[in-house]
Amino acid sequence: MITVTKTFFPPIEDYKSQLDRIWEYKWLTNNGQLSKELTANLKEYLGVNYLIPMTNGTLPIQIALNAYANQGEVITTPFSYVATTSSIVWEKCTPVFVDIHPEYLTIDETKIEQAITSKTSAILVTHVYGNPCNIEAIEAIANNHGLKVIYDAAHCFGVTYKGQSLFNYGDVSICSFHATKLFHTGEGGALFCKDEVTYKEMLYRHNFGHNGPLEYHGLGINAKISELQAAMGLSVLPYIDQIIEDRKRVCELYDALLDFSKVSRLKIRENTKWNYSYYPIIFNSEETLLKVEKFLSVNDIFPRRYFYPSLSSLPYVNKDDTPIADKLSKRVMCLPLYYQLEEKNIRKICDLILDSIQ
Ligand SMILES: *Cc1c(COP(=O)(O)O)cnc(C)c1O
Repeated sequence: MITVTKTFFPPIEDYKSQLDRIWEYKWLTNNGQLSKELTANLKEYLGVNYLIPMTNGTLPIQIALNAYANQGEVITTPFSYVATTSSIVWEKCTPVFVDIHPEYLTIDETKIEQAITSKTSAILVTHVYGNPCNIEAIEAIANNHGLKVIYDAAHCFGVTYKGQSLFNYGDVSICSFHATKLFHTGEGGALFCKDEVTYKEMLYRHNFGHNGPLEYHGLGINAKISELQAAMGLSVLPYIDQIIEDRKRVCELYDALLDFSKVSRLKIRENTKWNYSYYPIIFNSEETLLKVEKFLSVNDIFPRRYFYPSLSSLPYVNKDDTPIADKLSKRVMCLPLYYQLEEKNIRKICDLILDSIQ
């Protein structure tokens, strides 16, 4: 069976030696030695100044919204994972969906301004598949209207834009370290920001609002990473360049073998060093997608319809007018992509796709 992704397992000895350290320290959570090391190593690897590791990638979105969105309207994308929208509603804010660009699949920045009202409190948009949004345009709009920008950068581990980490853009960025993501800690995630003030705002919120053991800064929640998660992160990180390099091989083979007069691929924004996190292809109709999906599944190959359905069709939001996202979410499929996916299998996948769309 070939699935859309396969979690990278570091050699068990690597993980065991990290666990041995935990047993020596006798310390399982609350900013332990391993999570401090993981934070330092990630800061260095990614080239970021402020990073708070957390227990998943959804809580940092909620924490940032809790700090900035003030139960107002949040401009967002309908083309993302459900956590982007559900976090907005969870924080008692109202998502306002703006349509996406047909080739980049990120929010269409030219449509943001007309969606802003007096109730708009923040912009929360996704660098979908690790492909950057139009950062400059969004920053200009946000500055014009005094809005904070939160990037759901769940897919963006290792991506650089204009020579620096994509996490260095926006007021806050978040990443997911879930087992299905490029870099993982089993469950996990992180929040990134650029200055000390924001960092402290976010830090206390992720630890019950504590300001020292007996004092409280304000409202908070528990989003702390545990030492067990950090142990996995420290075991996976040394392999990350190798993982990205191998995924590049897979993507380049797909690029060479598929017929792009019949399906389209993602257009990566200029000035981006991408991380090969997903391989989405866009069919010319949903019927074709379903036909291919069926054909692959009888051959024991299971791609995934990331991201379907369009988030503006969720039962707990207002349906906004986003025709491009509605249309494309029905026609996008992510092909299997993981470390050491064998060439013969990539060839088989491409042959099956080409056969079924003849
Ligand atoms: C995976 C993902 C999340 C959620 O991250 P978790 O670590 O699973 O909580 C949020 N946004 C996007 C776009 C994602 O793909």
